[in-house]
Amino acid sequence: MKPSMDSILTKQIHNSDDIFQMLNSKEDERKKLFEYAAKIKKETVGNKVYFRGLIEYSNICAKDCYYCGIRKSNKKITRYTMSDTEVIDAVKYAHKENYASIVLQAGEISSPQQTKNITNLLNQIAKATNNELGITLSLGEQREETLKEWKNAGARRYLLRIEASSPELYSKIHPDNPMHKIETRIETLKLLQKTGYQTGTGVMVGLPFQTAEDLVSDIEFIRDNNIDMVGLGPYIEHKDTPLYSLRNTLLPQKERFDLSLKMIAILRIIMKDINIAASTAMQAIDKIGREKALKVGANIIMPNLTPVKYRESYLLYEDKPCIDEEAEECKNCLEARIVMAGDEIGYGEWGDSKRFFARQKHA
Ligand code: SAH
Ligand code: SF4
Repeated sequence: MKPSMDSILTKQIHNSDDIFQMLNSKEDERKKLFEYAAKIKKETVGNKVYFRGLIEYSNICAKDCYYCGIRKSNKKITRYTMSDTEVIDAVKYAHKENYASIVLQAGEISSPQQTKNITNLLNQIAKATNNELGITLSLGEQREETLKEWKNAGARRYLLRIEASSPELYSKIHPDNPMHKIETRIETLKLLQKTGYQTGTGVMVGLPFQTAEDLVSDIEFIRDNNIDMVGLGPYIEHKDTPLYSLRNTLLPQKERFDLSLKMIAILRIIMKDINIAASTAMQAIDKIGREKALKVGANIIMPNLTPVKYRESYLLYEDKPCIDEEAEECKNCLEARIVMAGDEIGYGEWGDSKRFFARQKHA
């Protein structure tokens, strides 16, 4: 007989079968899962939601991930890189509005010039904001020296999604060449931890070929690698990518969304003190998707600070929300939504991952 949801939820250590059962929960069982995740969130990280102002710095990318709208081979988009002044303006806005943290994200370019550009930007950001912003980078795989240089220039967190932790699935959604190796991605995650970054990872949910077992392994990967922050969300097809041809094999978007919510709840329950983002892709499928994610365990939101003129060119997937709203409108609408979800905003606080400090203590 399968164990009851109540007995699974309160276990200290969850095995694959437990995770599988939580992921497959329906109706009453799923309700219990969500309620328990909300309780754990309240008890461990509290009801504060922290903002990370997202700056989509450049859509130039050297990689060709089969799922992504800004992949190198997509010739249909206009490529851009924000000027330093545009970045600093966005950063100053975040600072003025007490966001306390920003994320600098872009396609993956690994070159001495890129290293220099980012270091330079980090120095300017520190100067413009009195060193008061918590800076997260999301710039793909980089060499150890580069990661160290950026850390020394003020970056404190780094997001690098593993995308799919199963090597088999990873190889199906990426080209087969040395630039797209899961081993390098895993090594980079380890390097980030070693270099002292608060390290974030995550996956896409509902990818072609993905099984429930893959998702269970994804959760175990995140747990077993002692990750500090998680950003996960539904895979959303993009018509100018190779995976689009498999759109008829996908789960309906609503199911991808529901599975993502369950993934968030399970991670909150089994990792407790990590930071979990309510990703923009959740909102792309469901208008109040991010609020639903906050209710079941997420505690981070990334309002978009990219100038509107670039947003059309940073469409990682289709139906990306808020592509025509300036930062101010985004903020007002978000505030109301968060309060509606029963949370409050941690203005002026970095909202670091509690898990990170626990990890440092035991290192
Ligand atoms: N180039 C960097 C950061 C930018 S991409 C990197 O790849 O790490 C940021 C994230 O967008 C990726 O990690 C991926 O998980 C997500 N993404 C890309 N295409 C997507 C799609 N079609 N649906 C959902 N998420 C997608
Ligand atoms: Fe480039 Fe990141 Fe998109 Fe891959 S997911 S193509 S690395 S921007």
